Amino acid sequence: MKKTVKILSVVLALILVIGCFAACGKKEEKKTEEKKTLVMATNAEFPPYEYHEGDAVVGIDAEIAKLIADKLGMELKIEDVAFDSIIPGVQAGKYDMGMAGMTVNEERLQSVNFSASYATGVQVVIVKEGGSIASLDDIAGKKIGVQTSTTGDIYASDDFGDENVVKFDSGAAAVEALKSGKVDCVIIDNEPAKSYVAANEGLKILETEYAVEDYAICFAKDNTELKEKVNAALKELIADGSVQKIIDKYINA
Ligand code: GLN
Repeated sequence: MKKTVKILSVVLALILVIGCFAACGKKEEKKTEEKKTLVMATNAEFPPYEYHEGDAVVGIDAEIAKLIADKLGMELKIEDVAFDSIIPGVQAGKYDMGMAGMTVNEERLQSVNFSASYATGVQVVIVKEGGSIASLDDIAGKKIGVQTSTTGDIYASDDFGDENVVKFDSGAAAVEALKSGKVDCVIIDNEPAKSYVAANEGLKILETEYAVEDYAICFAKDNTELKEKVNAALKELIADGSVQKIIDKYINA
């Protein structure tokens, strides 16, 4: 009789242990089923690539990123931060990638890796209609407004001297300074330039382009795995026309 009890309790214990393993296994499975997030850092002050619509960040970059995340089976999360904290944040692993109408250049390639390019950007000069700047030749010695750490800032400082460059937190703030006469021109990417000129009377864009550049997505140097995955998805979206479709939706050719 005693023996039977012993055997029974051993069997019971075994069932309990096996049951627990099964349950734990299930829990583990559930966890991996949850979608991983893809955290994208941007600066939502750059229409039509990224801007606010109510609480949401919308625009070309947000839409392309969403398609990339869908392809990778990930959940896209957009963090709106200052433009000059995107690269440091990506380097530190705070964000998985940076996508902000960001130009690929030598300096940035020292700190981050870039995806394939998905769009072309052009640096242009916004001036006051009838003001003192009629062409690129008139810029020397004038006060130039830029958004801090953008390529407009970098080129203007190189070409015209740091002392002539006034840095602002956003393109919008630089344009306000132009309107109030604190600066004589603003060097900025052409698409946001167009929307600022459309929204503010008395401003125009100089005909001659200042610089042509490529936009791409940046990643931490050590995160080549994600870079490869995103790049593969992006290339598919470029090849099947999805990227162009999004660009056309926001930019009237
Ligand atoms: N294309 C510019 C740069 O990369 C500006 C980008 C931006 O202001 N979001 O510096």
